[in-house]
Amino acid sequence: MIPFVSRANASNQSIWIAALSASMPNEVVVPFSELTDDQRMQCDLAIVANPSPQDLLMLPNLKWVHSVWVGVERMINELVSPSFSIVRLVDPELTNTMSEAVLAWTLFLHRDMPTYTQQQEQVIWLQKPMVRAKDRRIGVLGLGELGQVSAKRLVDNGFSVSGWSRRAKLVAGVQCFHGEDGLGQLLSQSDILICLLPLTPQTKGLLGEKNLSLLPFGAGLINFARGPIIDDLALLDALEQGHVSHAVLDVFMQEPLPSDHVYWRHQNVSVLPHISAPTHPQSASKIVADNVLRYRLDASIPEAVDLNRGY
Ligand code: NDP
Repeated sequence: MIPFVSRANASNQSIWIAALSASMPNEVVVPFSELTDDQRMQCDLAIVANPSPQDLLMLPNLKWVHSVWVGVERMINELVSPSFSIVRLVDPELTNTMSEAVLAWTLFLHRDMPTYTQQQEQVIWLQKPMVRAKDRRIGVLGLGELGQVSAKRLVDNGFSVSGWSRRAKLVAGVQCFHGEDGLGQLLSQSDILICLLPLTPQTKGLLGEKNLSLLPFGAGLINFARGPIIDDLALLDALEQGHVSHAVLDVFMQEPLPSDHVYWRHQNVSVLPHISAPTHPQSASKIVADNVLRYRLDASIPEAVDLNRGY
């Protein structure tokens, strides 16, 4: 028996349980709330979707949890020294979806769509100078699962791409920077900056006044990672000054974004409802099923997140 532990509403939980059960016909997947006390004692594995940490603490014999979400920072932050491993979703289909979103919104900024939308509203016929893709410098913060595939997709579409990670990396066609020194270099040459970093104590507020000021004047910004990586006041100031010309934001400090938030009506901000790379239940369930099957065969647990590193 494998509990599904989630804060999602009952109908979303049913969708997940149906998809997981279909991918694992030999397993019984049940909502956490339906477990008896005895069953709670027996669980060594749980499948989770943004769970309440209190629920996980009621499963004392857990060895690992498999998240159907890619980002697991909430669990990392809210659970103090968990006795079990946290495995996050790594799903090539989701990665591909993210790279598609990165390409789409990069093209939106590259082809000056925000300007032409505003010009149409004001009935203005004015052509901006054309910039070739190879002359548009794109910086990708984070060269992990999502960052690397997204960077490569941009390279394949003719852009001049650089990327930044904690450790040194080699990615074909991408100029790679790492560490604190590397960040300044990357920012100073990013006409469009794309954030695909995990939220950790080191990345929280990383895109604040100082780092935003290192971008070329008029740069575009895309945040598809987590809201708190951006200092909202600093971004609003940079937008006001024109230092950042337009921001595409999919993630926010508070979600849903409150209806009175200034971003909603800001003409140089595109608001997306955390949609750049949603988890697809069928695709994710297949990945989870493969990992559970391997665990049942030889007790091997997939690579877990590093709690010290925070991702
Ligand atoms: P990974 O863990 O695979 O990659 C993280 C990357 O960030 C790595 O390259 C890592 O460096 C780098 N990094 C982490 N900390 C630092 C730091 N302090 N300085 C420099 N580089 C750093 O994560 P994913 O690519 O799978 O996902 C990234 C994030 O995207 C997730 O954490 C999640 O928050 C978000 N996400 C958003 C979605 C959406 O719909 N908006 C959907 C899915 C995910 P190194 O390689 O050296 O370790």
